Amino acid sequence: MAEKIGRVPVREQDPKVRAHNYEEVCYGYDEQEAVIEASRCLNCRNPRCVQHCPVGIRIPEFIAQVKAGDFAAAARVIACDNSLPAVCGRVCPQETQCEGSCILGVKGEPVAIGKLERFVADWSREHGGVSVEKEPPNGMKVAVVGSGPSGLACASDLAKLGYEVTIFEVLHKAGGVLQYGIPEFRLPKERVVEPEIDSVRALGVKIETNVVVGRTLTIDDLLEKEGFRAVFIGSGAGLPRFMSIPGESLNGVFSANEYLTRSNLMKAYDPESDTPIFIGKRVAVVGGGNVAMDAARTALRLGSEVTIVYRRTEKELPARAEEVHHAREEGIEFRMLTNPVEVLGDDNGWVRALRCIRMELGEPDESGRRSPVPVPGSEFEIPVDGVIMALGTSPNPLIAGTTKGLETERHGCIVASEDGATSRPGVFAGGDAVTGAATVILAMGAGRRAAKAIDAYLKK
Ligand SMILES: Cc1cc2nc3c(=O)[nH]c(=O)nc-3n(C[C@H](O)[C@H](O)[C@H](O)COP(=O)(O)OP(=O)(O)OC[C@H]3O[C@@H](n4cnc5c(N)ncnc54)[C@H](O)[C@@H]3O)c2cc1C
Ligand code: SF4
Repeated sequence: MAEKIGRVPVREQDPKVRAHNYEEVCYGYDEQEAVIEASRCLNCRNPRCVQHCPVGIRIPEFIAQVKAGDFAAAARVIACDNSLPAVCGRVCPQETQCEGSCILGVKGEPVAIGKLERFVADWSREHGGVSVEKEPPNGMKVAVVGSGPSGLACASDLAKLGYEVTIFEVLHKAGGVLQYGIPEFRLPKERVVEPEIDSVRALGVKIETNVVVGRTLTIDDLLEKEGFRAVFIGSGAGLPRFMSIPGESLNGVFSANEYLTRSNLMKAYDPESDTPIFIGKRVAVVGGGNVAMDAARTALRLGSEVTIVYRRTEKELPARAEEVHHAREEGIEFRMLTNPVEVLGDDNGWVRALRCIRMELGEPDESGRRSPVPVPGSEFEIPVDGVIMALGTSPNPLIAGTTKGLETERHGCIVASEDGATSRPGVFAGGDAVTGAATVILAMGAGRRAAKAIDAYLKK
């Protein structure tokens, strides 16, 4: 019986080897493995997996095509709903979305939906890709601010509807966090990210890089002088938070954002690159999300001994389970129920240690998680020469500060309705710029809903 077959394990690089290189950790399925894994799917009549996919991919339909060995047909099914399938197959938190609700997961292991999506996307890219149908041009121009997942998803859907779409991106490369945040060993840039961005370009979307919206030109300029009929803001949440503890301005303290941007976007990990990057002997990474895991695993590969310092327990770690597992396998040390109170420096102004306090879990807070409470008198020092803060990010205030009538809330997030409409007519927003730091697929879902709303707004 199909459901008796166990989940096909995915091949990965040996942890001892990969801890010293930047090659992708996971090899993915080959054709035979993909067909076997696809044969586990029950093709449910009311598929719970689809209900829990933020972009509504027709999962049983594409898996049925994989099972039949028609990988091109599977790619066509996915392409209807997802313009970045090779990215999502690699980085989506499937365990809390599609796979987390797969019926097979009730008594056993869910279908490996993410790994199958990745297989289909990679196969399709290597075999010429999918040609997507487009409506004829309707003569209307729409601007998109930011080329991250929300901007790319919104731009793709609008281009398919016949709009002339231009994305304005402040950095010199498109992709947002996919390009500057998530490391090469999880998401290869030239092999995966850039071809998926090229497929958005192939729909006719123009991407203008090195344009700071709010400085080079404003949203008002786009609407009033440049002939754009609507604007989608997908500018993300790139402003790092710090702890406001003594010693945070010492040499050797970094935000994870800066550290990862140097390594990923500016290729500091490559010995041929001129970009400087700090390589500590012992580095502490503060935080427990995907950003913390990425910073820690990057520091490890650059040659540091790495400790993750997190104030709650393993159970509350917000990072994907797979990333935590990989980090442990590679030799990252975890110090749970530990919170920094001061960064200590030497006579030359460089970090020499992180002073921490032990924590215990108290009553649940408003997020439902038990809040960490300091244990009095339990302070201790961790000797380190580098500290990377991975404590979350907020939206940069530049766009809100230079756009008339654009309402924001107290953390600087743009106020927008479910379909992305903001307080300013003709201006829509979505992704991390609205929700604060979230996930690739939620940002893509927001971009797609906004594209639909922009179409309705312009056709009214
Ligand atoms: C290190 C790291 C690891 C992550 N790992 C995962 C993961 O494993 N799985 C997952 O689902 N999510 C992960 N995330 C979160 C995910 O990447 C984000 O939620 C997602 O990228 C948000 O998409 P976005 O389009 O809203 O914004 P972004 O991806 O941030 O893109 C915004 C773009 O707008 C540009 N921009 C900003 N301001 C301006 C301006 N004024 N003018 C022009 N352009 C501008 C930025 O340069 C950027 O390119 C991770 C995030 C980080 C930082
Ligand atoms: S819930 Fe699981 S078994 Fe059912 S269609 Fe989705 S992937 Fe297949």
